[in-house]
Order: sequence, then structure tokens, then C-alpha cells
Amino acid sequence: MLSGARSTALDNRMKPKRQTANHNLIRRINRSLILHQLRTAAPQSRATLAERTGLTRSTVSSLADELIAANLIHETGVGPSRGGRRGTLLALNPQGGCAIGVEMTEDAVLVMLTDFVAQPRWQQGFTLKTTDPDAVIERTEALITEALRYNADHDAMRPLGIGLGIVGLVDAAAGVLKKATNLGWEGIPFRQRWEERFHLPVYIGNEASIATLGENYFGAAQGYSDFVYLKIARNAIGGGVFVNGALYHGTDGYAGEVGHMVIELGGPRCTCGRYGCWEAVLREALVFAANVVMLVEDAQQGDNEAQQVLERVIEVIAVGVANLINIFNPQMVVLGGEVGQLLAPMLPEIRRQVAPRTIIPEAQSVELVTSQITTNACALGAVALVLDDILGEPNH
Ligand SMILES: [Zn+2]
Repeated sequence: MLSGARSTALDNRMKPKRQTANHNLIRRINRSLILHQLRTAAPQSRATLAERTGLTRSTVSSLADELIAANLIHETGVGPSRGGRRGTLLALNPQGGCAIGVEMTEDAVLVMLTDFVAQPRWQQGFTLKTTDPDAVIERTEALITEALRYNADHDAMRPLGIGLGIVGLVDAAAGVLKKATNLGWEGIPFRQRWEERFHLPVYIGNEASIATLGENYFGAAQGYSDFVYLKIARNAIGGGVFVNGALYHGTDGYAGEVGHMVIELGGPRCTCGRYGCWEAVLREALVFAANVVMLVEDAQQGDNEAQQVLERVIEVIAVGVANLINIFNPQMVVLGGEVGQLLAPMLPEIRRQVAPRTIIPEAQSVELVTSQITTNACALGAVALVLDDILGEPNH
């Protein structure tokens, strides 16, 4: 475990510079360990924090003092006695800072302001009447300005950053929207533009990968370090992969394009130009189902035709999910998105069809669930993206 020893002035004089840098890094990582612990399970006493992080009691106490002084955590009361004296409980301080989450889809924009524990304080949005990028982005910027003004007037919390979840191909590392086909946008450097304008850190991610982070912060995958989230819509399947407690971005930030995994050689043509992609096969399976809600209802009431369509949909979903289980060996697969959510009654059947398609002996124990976040998933995920920089598991 990381050393919690504090160097004395004498030590620092005698040590080469590199070691001081290491010491600062260790201290930063230890601070993150404590914040991460308090995000996932609070309130906790200093003694419990020491146990769970593996840090010494004195290191935890000194870091807790520092975090209390920085307003990021606060004391919330007294815990049960554990043999010795009763310990004061610590939790994240909701007033520790505020975050702005922006959701941008082909239909609408939503801007949300939350406190440090992601409780919404203010939100406003608009539906798109035009997809002209300048018009949409300027209107969004006006809302961000309004959100920041609301915070300044009411809570005066320290703004921690702006998170943006957007449809399309996103270079997360560079903070650039590469291409959003449905909006007709290309090469928009959101991070540069907003950092210059708002003087705050800007984080950007693809809608589905951001919803994945949201699912880990607020939804079904809380406390899970390895899981796959799927956003299944009629026309597209997006996804995100959580590995070792963090979103997996890939070299260029494009990881998670699971919808274009080919599951049927020579299958139907996909919007990407190739054939047999997972989302193209699903689209074909649903082509005669005008409404997926009705489809599930009709099938449940014994309608033969609807049952056949649904059987094919279940098979298509099961094949893709099994492939992902074989590749990532996750603890959990979350089915989200408008279609994924509706498949809740079909989960036992999907599970039954996934198992024989995997080669992992424990695959049967992979939890398959539907998403718990049904509204504002992307805006909340964008907030999580901002907070994750401070509250995420260290070492990523
Ligand atoms: Zn494709």
C-alpha cells in the first residue's frame, strides 16, 4: 500500500527533487482514495477510512483535515462506538463545488447545474429548431452562463467544470466532436472554445460512454468496477465499457462502438457502409414492428407474429451480449436506451440465450440488468464526468 509517512523538512532537504515530486503525487493519490471512498460509501469514520484505504490512521486524519479546510468534505455526526472512543463521521460536502452537465442530442439540449454530490440545483433546456451549429452552441452557452449566474447568486459554490455528452464520434482526449452525422456537425473543438469562454475545465464524451459513467455513479452499476453498458435504440446500439473502475476510452477515445461489431457476415447494410453490424441486424429484426412498447405487449398477450419478432430481437441481443462477455469478462451488463429498457420482462430469456454462447464458465453469473436511469441520463453522466476527475478511483 502507499506510504503515508510525512517527510520532515530535513528529509526533504536531503532527498533529490524527484522524491519530493513523488511525495506530492502520493499525497494526491491518497486524497483521491479518501474522496473516492466517501463518494461510494458515506458517512465513514476516520478509522473505517483507514481500514478501507489501507492508509495509516494518522495519514487519514491529516488528509481529512486538509479536505475539510478545502471544504470538500465535512463532519456529519458521530458514529457507533467501536470499542474505543466514538468517531466523528465524514462525508462529501454538498457545498464542496458545483458542476455543469450538458446533454446535446439531435433533438434537444439540456443544461444542468448540480452540487458536489450531484444533486440538481438548476436546469434548463431547449428543443432544436435548427441544427446550425453556431445557433445551437451560442444558445447553449447562454444557458451555461445563466447556470453559473444562478450559482453565484444562490450558493456561490466553486465551479469545478463543464461536462458535455454529445451524440456522435468524440475525441475525448482532445475535447473535440469529430463528427455527428445526425446533426451534420464536424470538427467542433468544444473544450478549447468553452475553456476560453468560461475559464473552467471542460470534459467531453460520447453520449453512450457518458451514460455509462452515469450508470456507475447513480444507477445499476454503482460499486461495480467492470461492466458493459449498452444504449439500445431502434436504429443504433451505442455502448461504454468500464474496466478496473474507470471508463475505457481506447487510444483515440473512440472505444465502445459496439453497434458496429459484425455479427452476421453478409448481413444487412449498416449506416456505416459495412454489412452485418449488430445494430443493422437489430434494425432489420425490428423493421416491421412499428412500436416496440406494443411489440412487447402483444407478444406477452400471445400474439404469434409479435412473439416471432421478439424472439429474433432476443436472439440478436443475446449474440452481441455474449460476444462482449467473451471479450471483457464483466461483472454486469446493463441494457439501457429506449429498446434496452423495454426488454426488462425478457431478461430471463436473454440470459438463457447468452449462456451457451459464451465460453467463460462463470458467464452464467454475469448480472444482466436494465438501466435504472431513465431521465436526464446523459446530463447526469456529464456531471459525473466533471466530478470523476476529483472523486474517481485514483491511478487512472
Ligand atoms: Zn456499422
